Amino acid sequence: MVLNIINGRVWTGNQLEEIGISIEGNKIIKVSNEMNLLKAENTIDAEDNIVFPGCIDVHSHLRDSNLSYKEDFISGTSAALAGGFTTILDMPNTKPPITNVKELIKRQKEASEKIFCNVGFYCSPINNNDIEPLVKSNAIGFKIYLHKPFENQELSRDNIETMMRNIKKNNSILLIHAESSDLFENNNHVVESETVAIEQMIKLAKKTKCKIHIVHVSTNKGLKIIMDNKHKIDISCETTPHHMILNTEEIIEGQHCEPPLRDRNNQQAIFEGIKNGNIDMIATDHAPHTVEEKEQSYPGFPGLEITVPIMFDLFYQEKITLQRIFEVLVKNPVERFKLKNIGQIKEGYNADLILVNEKNNKIIEPKNFLSKAKFTPFKGKKVNGEITATIINGKIGFRNGKILSKPGIGRVLKRTTDFN
Ligand SMILES: [Zn+2]
Repeated sequence: MVLNIINGRVWTGNQLEEIGISIEGNKIIKVSNEMNLLKAENTIDAEDNIVFPGCIDVHSHLRDSNLSYKEDFISGTSAALAGGFTTILDMPNTKPPITNVKELIKRQKEASEKIFCNVGFYCSPINNNDIEPLVKSNAIGFKIYLHKPFENQELSRDNIETMMRNIKKNNSILLIHAESSDLFENNNHVVESETVAIEQMIKLAKKTKCKIHIVHVSTNKGLKIIMDNKHKIDISCETTPHHMILNTEEIIEGQHCEPPLRDRNNQQAIFEGIKNGNIDMIATDHAPHTVEEKEQSYPGFPGLEITVPIMFDLFYQEKITLQRIFEVLVKNPVERFKLKNIGQIKEGYNADLILVNEKNNKIIEPKNFLSKAKFTPFKGKKVNGEITATIINGKIGFRNGKILSKPGIGRVLKRTTDFN
């Protein structure tokens, strides 16, 4: 069965070209002048759309298991497809948390029957001896929350050093939520709580040579410290759409996240970091809660359905280049997390593609989210950049507002996934 995509402007790695695409099975088999495409059983007319590689979110909380009331594999990965993400990496602070091989395998198995997009799983080790078996069981990386360790998880300097040595030995990566709760002032997450935590982690990374990734950088100073060390250690960082666009001078009350939104100067520095390439990735930090929980200030926002449209809207406003969007949402995540055969519209690559409308303005309305979390600080924002279709593993997963594929079309990522 061949699926053709015609009449769109296709992102071929560093430019938009008016060419067509033929897909067969889960593969892109032809990218060329439309006259040369294969004979197809099914054709998508992509007029007025940019055809872009499916985006990759390196920081999502899909919840499920005992937190299914907030989000589950079906609702979370539906939201991903609707928002233009075809691969997402899931955080381990679930209930129960993913700290050992037994929990990881259970989570992978449960996900495999339900997911609509490709999903990789991070773990948070309590016992450092578990790192090697977790890597062998396809943990995509490791995550620690310096301000909120899991029960029985020791995050002393010495223990993090040992953890980093084991992660380095297993050729994996440590993701760090860099906030030092010792420095919180009356539960206020001051700028120094981020900068000091980043400094401490960089010291340990220097000692151990462990590859690290700082999640959701929110301060100018924190970013500067990372930049000062980029040539000395193997470090990358991400920020979120909310830290990049919103600040405390504009935001309405009750929009709590961790780290918190910062003042305008910090927010502008983060925006600049995405524009100039100092920040490697945009991640959603998709953090679903019920509306009642959100009213009680639970931290975070659902981000899977707003991030790609907001970024494309910035492109249409000429505030960011398409090249940078490609880097922060596709290329850098693929390279940093060693994902194979995805992220390019080229013959032989896995057919993960999105169509992004160039002409329609749409108002962000959380009650229409496929995520269970029906709130967002971007409510009411008008954006040009609606996702009109998502092709996942060669199939039309989402089209004109509806999920069209069956649960389980997504795949659980293996360390060596190459989508062959
Ligand atoms: Zn998070």
